[in-house]
Amino acid sequence: MKTFLIYEGKRIACKTPFVGADHAVVDGACPLCKATPFKIAGTGRRSADDLAWEADAVAYCCDQPVGIVRAEPNTLFGVREDARIAQMGVRIY
Ligand SMILES: [Zn+2]
Repeated sequence: MKTFLIYEGKRIACKTPFVGADHAVVDGACPLCKATPFKIAGTGRRSADDLAWEADAVAYCCDQPVGIVRAEPNTLFGVREDARIAQMGVRIY
């Protein structure tokens, strides 16, 4: 699964530190408070299209909304992988 933060029209890669982590770590520093590492959580999950889901991203460091987190499952795994996403990567509240 590929995960991106979409902030001000830019796609920034992010990683989950381990399976089941409650946050993702975004490349670079927080655009709001410059904290590193820049950690985000997702809230308000919805399906963006057949290929991905999106959620509102919230910065852990300053507790502010920072755009949208978009996760694109590996299509090789199809629907089964989709079902597993809820238990993987960014925790959805
Ligand atoms: Zn911040």
